[in-house]
Amino acid sequence: MLLNNYTQKIFRPECNPSFESVHCIATLDEDISEALPFLNAELGGTQYYKDPPTVMFHVYGKIIKVSGREIAVNALQDEAEADKIITWLKNEINRVWENREHITPSETTPEKPKLIEILKLLPKTNCKKCGLATCMVFAAQVMEGGRGAGDCPELSSEQRLKLEDYLSQFQLHTL
Ligand code: SF4
Repeated sequence: MLLNNYTQKIFRPECNPSFESVHCIATLDEDISEALPFLNAELGGTQYYKDPPTVMFHVYGKIIKVSGREIAVNALQDEAEADKIITWLKNEINRVWENREHITPSETTPEKPKLIEILKLLPKTNCKKCGLATCMVFAAQVMEGGRGAGDCPELSSEQRLKLEDYLSQFQLHTL
């Protein structure tokens, strides 16, 4: 096992302490830098930085940053959700490390879907039924892997299939 333990801290954004969501930082007892290219390859990171090694994931509208000694997650509902995501990541880090002989490591950032192409495939009515202010905001979240074609109730079956078909060319990871 590469990662044995960590210390987790939960806090509210300083810019708005009354904000509903919380952020979480887990300080890792072990340095997992060497596992990051394997984690990036397996989980489909949305951004990879070589120096210092850091990989970003966008999962369910949250941005997760994993570096050698730290995992940071934003926009969490509560501590229980933080526990779930950090525990999942700890298990994934150990899993990929134990299986590294069978994984081709990656220090590259995969190509993302284009905002304008996603927007073209949406109804563009800004109806807000997805819970977001505009189709543009929705498209930005789809681009990052935070939402999918099934989250816009205004898409017809045919439109949804077209969007799914476009997105299937890219590696977008969801938890
Ligand atoms: S539900 Fe669909 S059409 Fe309505 S705002 Fe959201 S993305 Fe746009």
